[in-house]
Amino acid sequence: MPLTPTSPPPPAPLSPAEFEASAARLATAEPEDSLRWTWERFGAHAAIGTSFQGAGIVILHLARELDLGFPAFTLDTGLIFPETLELKRRLEERLEITIETVEPEISVAEQARLHGEALWERDPDACCTLRKVAPLRRKLFELNGWITGLRREQSDARANVAVLELHDIEGAEGRRVAKINPLALWERARVWDYLRRHHLPWNPLHDRGYRSIGCRPCTRSFGENGAERAGRWTGFGKTECGIHTFTRRRSP
Ligand code: SF4
Repeated sequence: MPLTPTSPPPPAPLSPAEFEASAARLATAEPEDSLRWTWERFGAHAAIGTSFQGAGIVILHLARELDLGFPAFTLDTGLIFPETLELKRRLEERLEITIETVEPEISVAEQARLHGEALWERDPDACCTLRKVAPLRRKLFELNGWITGLRREQSDARANVAVLELHDIEGAEGRRVAKINPLALWERARVWDYLRRHHLPWNPLHDRGYRSIGCRPCTRSFGENGAERAGRWTGFGKTECGIHTFTRRRSP
């Protein structure tokens, strides 16, 4: 359900007391329950952000099945795989939804002119900031709730992900967003079981040994036995692009 000029005003932000009570209540909630809570609390002022990994597809499908009209968006850096773009098209068709494309302010060519060719080979943090973090930061200013496919099992850095979190947006005094991670407790096998059971499409690169799929220059096939985030930024000590680390998580 896209927001329109006649949409109701944004809901009040979560107070510390409400956040604490809701986080405790949702700590072990099934994804259906956390999504219903998010809809009741934020309506279409919460959106699903996805890069079309398996968990994101599960969430898009669950929201559709539950008839919760969350808007959905994806970050297109201009460097993503054609297979990912095709998957977006197939999901829009299958789920009868529109997924907004959020883009960086500068094209890949402009970035090369300003910062040199293939910035990702020299400074992937700077490249991710320009092409992922900055556009997401702009998008989050529109939202009260950000629904993600983060799962604890994905990496050590994600081992403490909670179903409901509250985040301050760095550099934006007093701007907070609730982050909802409905599949925080799910394991990879459960995600894949869900996709197969519901005959949902997935990125065909997974069938070619890609574990986690991001931009073309920074994603390698790692085979079935790799860690969940294996094959991303090979050769750099980098495991996160920054979109899940630039906000500051508040404690309940
Ligand atoms: S994943 Fe690689 S190409 Fe994509 S924004 Fe980050 S550094 Fe740039």
